[in-house]
Amino acid sequence: MSAPIDETHSPSLRSWVESANDPTSDFPIQNLPFGRFRRSGEINWRLGVAIGDHVLDLRAAKLISGRDMRLLMRMQTTARRKLRLQMVRGLQVGSEQQTAFRAALYPQSGVELGLPCEIGDYTDFYTSIHHATNIGKQLRPDNPLLPNYKWLPIGYHGRASSIVASGSSFHRPLGQTRLADQDRPNLAPSRRLDYELELAAIIAHPNTLGDRVDLAQAEDHVFGLALLNDWSARDIQAWEYQPLGPFLAKSFASTLSPWVVTLEALAPFRESFTRPEGDPQPLPYLDGDRNNERGAFNIELQVSLQTAQMRARGYAGDQLSQSNYRSAYWTIAQLVTHHTINGCNLRPGDLLGTGTVSGPKPEQAGSLMELSTGGQQPIHLSNGETRTFLEDGDCVILHGYCQRNGFRRIGFGECRGTVLPTA
Ligand code: MN
Repeated sequence: MSAPIDETHSPSLRSWVESANDPTSDFPIQNLPFGRFRRSGEINWRLGVAIGDHVLDLRAAKLISGRDMRLLMRMQTTARRKLRLQMVRGLQVGSEQQTAFRAALYPQSGVELGLPCEIGDYTDFYTSIHHATNIGKQLRPDNPLLPNYKWLPIGYHGRASSIVASGSSFHRPLGQTRLADQDRPNLAPSRRLDYELELAAIIAHPNTLGDRVDLAQAEDHVFGLALLNDWSARDIQAWEYQPLGPFLAKSFASTLSPWVVTLEALAPFRESFTRPEGDPQPLPYLDGDRNNERGAFNIELQVSLQTAQMRARGYAGDQLSQSNYRSAYWTIAQLVTHHTINGCNLRPGDLLGTGTVSGPKPEQAGSLMELSTGGQQPIHLSNGETRTFLEDGDCVILHGYCQRNGFRRIGFGECRGTVLPTA
């Protein structure tokens, strides 16, 4: 069952945390995403909820009694909706809890934000048909989409150990590559390092090994969504991916944003899921009324690049592209149902990546592989620099937000990562 729109989404709600009422804030009182933070010198993470430019310590505010995100994940839908209502009532203007809550409030700029939870298994999908077509055209100009694409959500098993928190840096990976004019590969730092603009769905409720999750219940297993940058070394990928798919080209780092925006918060931004005219309807196990009526999410996504030169000048960076998750070929619910159709068990903290979210227009592409047409067309930046792929010192920043008439805009914060030279 998908979360309803209720009083917690009312655009007239205002918070006594003044920064939350700024119309440009990603974290108004209608959002309330969950994350983990710690203060300087602390080892253990605290559970928090973002409100304006602050974070509320959930345990100190006596809203929950522990420190493990699984406490929130284990809650049934009704309990989580009750918690959301408690948070709204405590944070809204005129609340009797203002004094108690204020003592549990920290500026986000003064704390470390970590991964939102311990990440279990990581599966990455390929749900943007525009991305799949763009990449497919580079590999197979006559036949860009493989015949299975319109019948099942394509995915592969990624690596959870290298998922890092937003703000982290990583070293350019070393790997085997083979240039077109070489007859043998060599080991070298990747020269075709790329980002991928994605969303991550975080699993809350498990299914028992052997049990399938029906489409109608699939969203009950999902905690919420965050931003994911699935860094990719295209030259390593090109040499290694056949016959078993991506491996070391992907597993050196993936960056996850700190805040999980819950499906409850996203309720006003649902849209119908439709297939383009002439495309096959999904098989019955991937088809359902609720999925058709509101399976999709209207989430605007943006990628920005800040080069080392830009950073030295204090410039925030150039936006490279913008797309929207509404055009995904498969919904989050379909990903969960398809993932479990063979009896595979999902566990709390598992992460399902949507795959690169590219829009239908060339400038809406969610990777450099697409924006530079495989490195053939350099991208011109505002300061005169050019890029085909990422250079050392480049920082990639993802943003996401939802807006709709009659509702308060909510956002995902940022997902930021910086490329360091090969170690
Ligand atoms: Mn990916």
